[in-house]
Amino acid sequence: MKKLKRLDEYQEEIAQCVKCGACRAHCPAFGAEKHEGRVARGKIALADALLKGEVDLEDKFLLDMSQCLLCGSCCAQCPNNVPTDEIVAATRREIARRRGLSTFAKGVAGILSRPELMNLLAKSGGKLSTLLFKKLPQSSGLRLRFPAPFISADRTLPSLASTPFRERYPEKIAGAAGRPTVAFFTGCGINYMYPEVGVALLKALQFIGVTVVIPAGQGCCGLPAVSAGAGEVVEQLAEQNLKALTATPVDCIVTACASCHAGLGKVYQDFGAEFAPLTANVKDIFVFLVEQGLVEKLAALPKAAKRMKVTYHDPCHLRTQGITKEPRAILKALPQVDYVEMEDAGTCCGLGGTYSVYHYDTAKKIGAKKAGFIEESGAALVATDCPGCIMQLQDAVNHAGQQQRAVHILSLLMEALEEVREDK
Ligand code: SF4
Ligand code: SF4
Repeated sequence: MKKLKRLDEYQEEIAQCVKCGACRAHCPAFGAEKHEGRVARGKIALADALLKGEVDLEDKFLLDMSQCLLCGSCCAQCPNNVPTDEIVAATRREIARRRGLSTFAKGVAGILSRPELMNLLAKSGGKLSTLLFKKLPQSSGLRLRFPAPFISADRTLPSLASTPFRERYPEKIAGAAGRPTVAFFTGCGINYMYPEVGVALLKALQFIGVTVVIPAGQGCCGLPAVSAGAGEVVEQLAEQNLKALTATPVDCIVTACASCHAGLGKVYQDFGAEFAPLTANVKDIFVFLVEQGLVEKLAALPKAAKRMKVTYHDPCHLRTQGITKEPRAILKALPQVDYVEMEDAGTCCGLGGTYSVYHYDTAKKIGAKKAGFIEESGAALVATDCPGCIMQLQDAVNHAGQQQRAVHILSLLMEALEEVREDK
């Protein structure tokens, strides 16, 4: 297995940045702070200076390198295809190599690299949730009752599942004969925080007769470790997932989390040809459902008498991979949905992995802009395709004092399919 690329292996890409600034207007960190040090060209220049030995790892350097959401918005706009997100991630790994991980990153790495510990912590948290969390109005999330390290007291959080999703189902759920078989990579968000999204995915696949394998040996995709600069943990998790996801022959591996899709489908490409059976076979659930003709099936259903206005937020990790039409196609075809497009649906929500932990105030500013667009759309719900975005969007809406709820499209799809069953 090849290792993640080192910073010095990005010299060619670093040299491709001509400092044109074409990406600046698309950087959420710059949009929130109007600070030149936040944009791609500044980070690329710092990475270059580090390689040339022209700067030390002083506080300002560390701060600038932490001020990136790894959203990839700049890369998508860059005329020279400079992969700033990868260069920043490689710089964070280089920082960790030279001076060790930060305290928070050590915690992230320690938990992610020990799945049994993560399971235990999540389950204990789920069982103690009434003690740990206080409920906010309108069922719009929870807040911690007690101070917790690295988590702001005014942050809205989802509750933890007392039984993680993967412990609720057998490893194989048979569909109809002659239909495809898929492996479901759940990711941590669905497994521990939003198990109902996993349930909805199973219902949608059952509806079209697909057999689902939920490989028990899967772990985190590793994206939080990419963000934290913990390269060895990413490599360990990738190896574990390769083994788990290729053990049973399947037609494809589906994800319902934009970050997992980017982890498995993009980051793992660095690990070489050995990973091709995994990286080439990953599909976002809505891409798969559209391919399987679900839009046509939904469109044939009678429109519901009671409908609600719903808008869509593009998760960065899908938008930058060109997946924008399929989630909208499913959403628009739902009988209970009146779809409205919000302004700048593709702007980042402000989560950005470790970013919103280190820079929660800026993350809130980025989220506030998004909350404004949601409000202006007139939608009652903001749907998306990523558990992390759901968490951040709900937090942003709550801070803005608005009433909307953030949901996964799969939850709305399940509602529609349940109506179909009741009508039969
Ligand atoms: S990253 Fe690309 S778009 Fe941004 S300043 Fe450099 S060359 Fe220009
Ligand atoms: S990856 Fe996102 S946050 Fe980072 S420099 Fe590019 S646009 Fe800005």
